[in-house]
Amino acid sequence: MSHITDSYNAIKGVVPETVKLVAVSKTRSVDEIMELYRDGHRIFGENRVQELMSKRDRLPSDIEWHIIGHLQTNKVKFIAPFIGMIESVDSYRLLKTIDSEAGKAGRVIRCLLQIHIAEEETKFGFSMPEIEEMFRDNIRGSLRNIMICGVMGMATFTGDREMIASEFSCLRECFQTIRKEYMGDAPFFKEISMGMSGDFMTAIEEGSTMVRIGSLIFGERKK
Ligand SMILES: *Cc1c(COP(=O)(O)O)cnc(C)c1O
Repeated sequence: MSHITDSYNAIKGVVPETVKLVAVSKTRSVDEIMELYRDGHRIFGENRVQELMSKRDRLPSDIEWHIIGHLQTNKVKFIAPFIGMIESVDSYRLLKTIDSEAGKAGRVIRCLLQIHIAEEETKFGFSMPEIEEMFRDNIRGSLRNIMICGVMGMATFTGDREMIASEFSCLRECFQTIRKEYMGDAPFFKEISMGMSGDFMTAIEEGSTMVRIGSLIFGERKK
């Protein structure tokens, strides 16, 4: 067995069946992705549209692709016809663009709202006030070609387990607030995408329903 298959099986052994595993394949070759595909895996995450498009052309069509990195509005049209989920919706403008391109493609696109939970300064992710403002604009009534399925977040890159746990717990609370206040307990609003190679067990303890794992499956990234 290859190291990819070995690592994959080891991770499958500890991730509960109720938690979805997104194999983060950014920077990985088509051959590496095919190895995991042959093991039966179907959900892959990429952060760059161009890279995703070129890989998709050379891989089986039943792969469910997730976008997990910052997405520029002018790139949405390329992925709208096929994307399985956009996990990294980080602005109202982007959400509106996704809705419009999904409409043109005759699809409903599943989205997660990326929420900024880490202490680190990054440009991406909503704050809760921004999310509240967006929902007050009646997006559930006006954006008919998207399905908001939950939230996504990244914890601070630190060895401090308590800090990571409290950031994940904060994301779970955001999820619960949004579900109750704005989603009317809609059954499809159910995903909390949190946890990467270094912190996925903590994320699962804090209620993650979707983990995004790259280097633990494929090995350290070179670029
Ligand atoms: C790269 C990336 C991951 C996976 O990171 P690993 O540490 O390799 O598991 C998960 N989520 C996002 C948003 C990423 O960009």
